[in-house]
Amino acid sequence: MKLFRLCLTALFILLLSTPQVFAQQTIIHAGTLIDGLSDEPKKEVSILISGNKITAIESGFVSGKSEDTIIDLSNKTVLPGLIDLHVHLESETNPQKYLEQFTFDEADFAFRSTAYAKRTLMAGFTTVRELGGSGVNTALRDAINQGFVDGPRVISVGKSIATTGGHADPTNGWKQDLMGNPGPREGVINGVAEAREAVRQRYKNGADHIKITATGGVLSVAKSGDAPQFFMDELNAIVKTASEYGMHVAAHAHGAEGMKRAVEAGVLTIEHGTHMTEEVMDLMIEKGTYYVPTISAGKWVAEKAKVEGYYPELVVPKALEIGPKIQSTFENAYKRGVKIAFGTDAGVFPHGLNSKEFGYMTEVGMPPMEAIQSATTVAATVLGMQETIGSIEAGKMADIVATDANPLEDIHTLEQVSFVMKDGTIYKHK
Ligand SMILES: [Zn+2]
Repeated sequence: MKLFRLCLTALFILLLSTPQVFAQQTIIHAGTLIDGLSDEPKKEVSILISGNKITAIESGFVSGKSEDTIIDLSNKTVLPGLIDLHVHLESETNPQKYLEQFTFDEADFAFRSTAYAKRTLMAGFTTVRELGGSGVNTALRDAINQGFVDGPRVISVGKSIATTGGHADPTNGWKQDLMGNPGPREGVINGVAEAREAVRQRYKNGADHIKITATGGVLSVAKSGDAPQFFMDELNAIVKTASEYGMHVAAHAHGAEGMKRAVEAGVLTIEHGTHMTEEVMDLMIEKGTYYVPTISAGKWVAEKAKVEGYYPELVVPKALEIGPKIQSTFENAYKRGVKIAFGTDAGVFPHGLNSKEFGYMTEVGMPPMEAIQSATTVAATVLGMQETIGSIEAGKMADIVATDANPLEDIHTLEQVSFVMKDGTIYKHK
């Protein structure tokens, strides 16, 4: 009996180890490697990949065993898969967008989201934080993880939380008898009890994190883009409840007072941050809050607000006022030492153009290497995923992209990535 057990154990160990013995590996020959960690690129290295993981980085171009697959990126710059911390994959800007809330079913949003997700992945973004839609985004996350849809790894907040009439109240601007009275389930809260309920509802729905709209916003059909929209007790209730489920809170904010309250309550990221004062910047530095600038969205709305009929009347003056300011806010916050994490608000502008943000960041003083790190190691840290993604080193997921030029010399080359691997699978190789 003892011998039988011993044999069984031996067989089990053999079975477990067999795949590794004969496993085929993939070897990427990288001409230049920006690994996300080092401030200096490395020249001529090999990245060894087994399954969906990076197993080793070796100097020189190693040839491996005869059964190994070699991917020749010796004339390219190789980087970690990019991370965008602010996207909306359910929709995309167009003048009919406001009408679509009445003409689209969830299935319409869902099918479109699959196309936007694929475009995002093909642009080199292997992970995104989806900061709010109807909630379809959570199902999209699962469909991508299960292999039904090609797209980036999605970290989802489901539906944003607002107060009545706030930026993410889904019924703003609707006629009275259609408005109804959206509550915590729909992401509209008033008071502490509802704040807690809304967070718990999102947890129940499968969201990964929480998004709130701490001040008014540009694209909602409401007058103020700046006014604070939560009281401290509501913000504290949201952050505290979220943290009990291991969720962080991302706060959309344009006005300084709402931003200050959100930072004081302990949100992890401030999105947009348009009218950020030096007082708020210093508070963010003290609290370790990250700033996710979304300059791309600001530029896009300011541009489109000049096109007649593109946005509703109430939106136009806000877009013209807030849009152009974000880039200089970013410049000031960066120079003052606020931690910057990459995010674009894709969906407010067409999906797939996410990498334009790098150009906007570097043209006002952020060095290219730091801009790249904001979209790799820094963004991974915001997501609490720094052990699995965000850099090219042994043990990390094989999320790898490549550009034809060196982005440290030409940042715009990131807008045309020529190689995309996510989770060890190649999606693009030109
Ligand atoms: Zn957004």
